Amino acid sequence: MSKENKLIFFSALVLALITQFSYKSQAQTIEAKIKIVSPNLIDVQGAILDAGSLQNERNFSFLTSYAGIENLGARISDVDLSDENKRKIEHKKLIDGEYLTEKRFKFWNYKTKPEDAAANISALARVSSISGEQGILMLDDLLPQFKARNGEKVRAKITFDLPADWKIASAEKPAGENSFEVDDIEKAIFYIGKNWRQREISTGNSKLYFMITGERQFSDSEAFQMAREIYEFYARLFGAVPNKNAQIYLGKLPSDARFGRWEAETRGANITIFSADMAFKTQSLQRLHEQLRHEIIHLWMPNDLNLSGNYDWFYEGFALYQSLKTGVAVNRLRFEDFLDTLSRAHSVDSLQSRKTSLIEASKNRWNGANTQIYARGMLVAFLADVALLRRSKGKNSLSGVFRRIYSEHRASNPRRDGNSAILSILESSEELRPVVEKYIKGAENINWQTELEAFGIESAEENFQTKLKVKAKPNNRQKDLLDKLGYNNWRKLSENSR
Ligand SMILES: [Zn+2]
Repeated sequence: MSKENKLIFFSALVLALITQFSYKSQAQTIEAKIKIVSPNLIDVQGAILDAGSLQNERNFSFLTSYAGIENLGARISDVDLSDENKRKIEHKKLIDGEYLTEKRFKFWNYKTKPEDAAANISALARVSSISGEQGILMLDDLLPQFKARNGEKVRAKITFDLPADWKIASAEKPAGENSFEVDDIEKAIFYIGKNWRQREISTGNSKLYFMITGERQFSDSEAFQMAREIYEFYARLFGAVPNKNAQIYLGKLPSDARFGRWEAETRGANITIFSADMAFKTQSLQRLHEQLRHEIIHLWMPNDLNLSGNYDWFYEGFALYQSLKTGVAVNRLRFEDFLDTLSRAHSVDSLQSRKTSLIEASKNRWNGANTQIYARGMLVAFLADVALLRRSKGKNSLSGVFRRIYSEHRASNPRRDGNSAILSILESSEELRPVVEKYIKGAENINWQTELEAFGIESAEENFQTKLKVKAKPNNRQKDLLDKLGYNNWRKLSENSR
């Protein structure tokens, strides 16, 4: 970037500074301009607008690892810091991505490299990347890590300088051409590039924006329709929708990615999915439905819950179970597949050589406990669901628990510790107390014979593999309970459509 450009930008900043004073309550803490110089180089300039509200005034540091992706700090170079009079401030590099300055700085400028999508597929949905004419910019790894003094979110005004013809899409509030007001840097994502197809899906009083890139085996409208169906299902399940409009970005993995490979993450109101096609269209559609069921539920939990700490066993394990049940409920998944998934989870859990509780496992998610959180978390959600259904003769289920958690802890409520908030709601049901004691706080082997029997489900073990199946002749009570899990869903649906 030339010096002249820099000057124009900073005078715009000064102007912004003056106008900021008139509405302090919504004031931004920082301001930044992000310029895409080339697919592997981004130039970032910025300023601290409200130094008084920030901690660590002499630290200039960046996200160094995220979700198992390491060395993010190594992408940062050419760091240049200055004070309010634009006088250079000396700094010392402590490690990659961490700098200590002599004194307080106001203006900053540096260069960073987005991930190369082709080189690191597993990083694709999780950190900023650009490949060809598509990119995803995530402020959490692009901008310095500032911490507000009062523990509040760091607000920012962000302006983008994009290659000619590139578009930008975001759930953040627009504030002029390619500019946005961001209320939480950590959660903000911007999709940039060209040639994506977009649909605005209105459901009730909320909007969902869906973007698709690349040629797929299925049609765009099949994907849009799926997203709507799932979103509306969860809106009914939770009894309300998140305040912020959500967006879904479905990108295609590089052509050398193997069949069926995919990466996905839901951050704030943004769902990013990268996938390769499966061998056949029906499989690709089924896979997309599975991805959307799992990611869309995250818009509610954990993303719209004001809960802190590592309670991944709940928002991953219980989410996985509910998304499985949703698949059966909307008739996209057979009941046999539902049972097969639970069987596999049970086999995985039984084979764990060292058992830890779900609470402990959630603290170590990226250090090898990931599978356990999903597998055991899903099994425990199933056990909770069947315990509630059995005791209430089919009147209560896990749906009621989800609805209660969302109404008591959604974003407008005070911040609470996730583990204690969820556990106290689960423990308020007498029938769930043993589930919490044995399997969430404790590390006992899953013993589900009694529950399965009540539902007329049989479990067999063969070569260390669990196999669940519905009895040949379940009695009426068992049939009623099975129906609550979706056993006869396909029949009900076909009768209704007659
Ligand atoms: Zn998830």
